[in-house]
Amino acid sequence: MNQKTPINAELLDLLVCPSCRSQLALDYESNELVCTSRGCALAYPVLEDVPVLLVDEARKPL
Ligand SMILES: [Zn+2]
Repeated sequence: MNQKTPINAELLDLLVCPSCRSQLALDYESNELVCTSRGCALAYPVLEDVPVLLVDEARKPL
């Protein structure tokens, strides 16, 4: 294990999508927090281990 976990699971549990208040799932490959709501599905970047939960910064699906 030489790759540290970007965000710990307990913190992740507390985080919700600022757009729709759904739970977020961590995508390790892209290092993004992805909204689990199918209608929303915004992906928020994680910069320097800090999730950027801003709708303006989120990557939109499609
Ligand atoms: Zn959402």
